[in-house]
Amino acid sequence: NSDLILYVNLELLNKKSSRRYVVQEMLGQGTFGQVAKCWDAETNSYVAVKVIKNQPAFYQQAIMEVSLLRLLNEKFDPDDEHHIVRMLDFFLYQNHLCIAFEMLGNNLYELLKRNSLRGLQMKYVRTFSRQILDALIIMKDAGIIHCDLKPENILIAPTVKTAVGVKVIDFGSVCMEGKTIYSYIQSRYYRSPEVLLGYPGQPPDDLLREAKNTGKFFKHVGSIYPSSEARNGASSAYRILSEDEIEARDSKKPKVGRWYFPRGRLDRLIYTYPWKNLSEGNLPETEKADCLALVDFLRGLVEFDPNKRWSPLQASYHPFITGEAFTGPYEPVQETPRIPVGRAAVVDHNPGGGHLL
Ligand code: ADP
Ligand code: MG
Repeated sequence: NSDLILYVNLELLNKKSSRRYVVQEMLGQGTFGQVAKCWDAETNSYVAVKVIKNQPAFYQQAIMEVSLLRLLNEKFDPDDEHHIVRMLDFFLYQNHLCIAFEMLGNNLYELLKRNSLRGLQMKYVRTFSRQILDALIIMKDAGIIHCDLKPENILIAPTVKTAVGVKVIDFGSVCMEGKTIYSYIQSRYYRSPEVLLGYPGQPPDDLLREAKNTGKFFKHVGSIYPSSEARNGASSAYRILSEDEIEARDSKKPKVGRWYFPRGRLDRLIYTYPWKNLSEGNLPETEKADCLALVDFLRGLVEFDPNKRWSPLQASYHPFITGEAFTGPYEPVQETPRIPVGRAAVVDHNPGGGHLL
């Protein structure tokens, strides 16, 4: 298909200009369309062109992607320092909105799969987490919520020297803070409890179906048992069960249709990594400290209560990220709102942050 040529039409910008991109191969396929690796003869470089499906809903959302990514690139990250993909061009081609991005490497999911899902070395977990937080801090400054952060949307980025880095891509689900958004945001496996439980309100049947399809979150951070308020979508709708309550509940057979989630513990996450069991005591002290710091870091990110969950800025000061010695549970300082120049007029309805991972 290398003879397939995309002509660029910048009508959307009211500019008359035409460039051509020669399609080399397909890079990925998603809900919104396809992504092709293309050769840009004008700059003598490869670009990744996302071809959006030509349906009104996808077109509208892609316009959001273009607008907000442009705002992020130009106003909030002019020097390309904050690990957000660069948009190079956009145009209409045969009724498809197309967006050209800088060419990046594999996504993290592909990387993990190649590694038989055994995870990454600690140094990469730390570096990538730091860089993703950096991107999220900038987005929060801009009043922009990504809504689809997941390994498939984090790409390996070439950096100067031999260091490895990542960039956040796919602003195809993006929205502005304080604006009403769809209830079905976030990919199923990574959906936060407040979205899962649906504020304000979601029919219990939908909730149950969603919960059955999710489960991962609860498997790792413990059980959740909706009280009667959950049906009304009140903010006190969920709580973590104590060990005693879990035992009491597990001893009775859960009725069919009763909301039931498997119990789990955050520190089990660590055993799925290729490192030795912490309790074996045969890890070097520094690695043991790293593991403990990582578990404590994750604790703040998967906090049930979105108002207590750490904001990207708060998380960025965790010893796991800064590399300081980990001496005990991290307590973030209260975040003072930072409203930098250039921020769109957006009301902050989400002071606790809470859209991390
Ligand atoms: P969708 O909204 O359909 O998920 P994405 O923007 O996430 O679309 O792109 C789908 C896939 O295409 C990504 O997971 C990635 O593998 C690949 N891809 C997207 N952008 C780039 C890029 N700039 N460089 C390399 N590969 C990319
Ligand atoms: Mg994607």
